[in-house]
Amino acid sequence: MSQITGNCLCGKITYNVDIPLEAATPAICQVLKGDTRVFVGDTDAGPKTRRTFCPNCGSQVCNHPDSDPKVAFIKAGTMDNELQKLVKPIFEVFVDKRLPFINDRYGAQFAGMPPSQS
Ligand SMILES: [Zn+2]
Repeated sequence: MSQITGNCLCGKITYNVDIPLEAATPAICQVLKGDTRVFVGDTDAGPKTRRTFCPNCGSQVCNHPDSDPKVAFIKAGTMDNELQKLVKPIFEVFVDKRLPFINDRYGAQFAGMPPSQS
């Protein structure tokens, strides 16, 4: 387990959670400290996803796919700088929409979201 810490751009939203570095974390959006806003939007896969933002600076901190309530995706850009160097992607989603200038590949490849593990 590793302690993941981070914040939005302005610092009004912070988080601090223990998780395996290689894994998505459960319920991170519930440990956010600070006033947040949630935008519920559609996904290509069908179920909606909840994107959590800072209302002050507009940074998206994480999102929860309704398809798997146990999972949250932390936006890597919000992690503290030293942690960004340790995080390594283990899979890549929406590869069929990858921009042509992105040449690196990371782990398992999925055209959309991976199948739910529940
Ligand atoms: Zn902010």
